[in-house]
Amino acid sequence: MELTGLCSVCGRPGARYTCMLCGRLVCERCYDPVHRICVVCKGSKTL
Ligand SMILES: [Zn+2]
Ligand SMILES: [Zn+2]
Repeated sequence: MELTGLCSVCGRPGARYTCMLCGRLVCERCYDPVHRICVVCKGSKTL
């Protein structure tokens, strides 16, 4: 069992993506692979 860190958005373990805008470590649920940003940055920006 590997621990990759806690998601900075939802707080669940298993975060393995880094937002290229804010640098948060987030899980796949909170990450947009298209834009490579987290849902927080995605929500605060009109892309
Ligand atoms: Zn998350
Ligand atoms: Zn972000």
